[in-house]
Amino acid sequence: MVDMALCNLCEGCLELAPEVFSLNQVHGYIEVAELGRYPEEKVQEAIADCPAGAIAWEEA
Ligand code: SF4
Repeated sequence: MVDMALCNLCEGCLELAPEVFSLNQVHGYIEVAELGRYPEEKVQEAIADCPAGAIAWEEA
């Protein structure tokens, strides 16, 4: 999940894993796709690279 209180909309995660993260153009926040399986390495990279520390795994 993305904590929008921390996210600064740098869009880094969109570049790293566009199939998971997308920008909701209307409301201006990052959306996480509902996927059965997530590309773990890419998400891990996005978590590591997020400058705001706003991304974290969420227990299903
Ligand atoms: S990388 Fe982090 S701060 Fe940047 S848009 Fe994604 S969630 Fe927000």
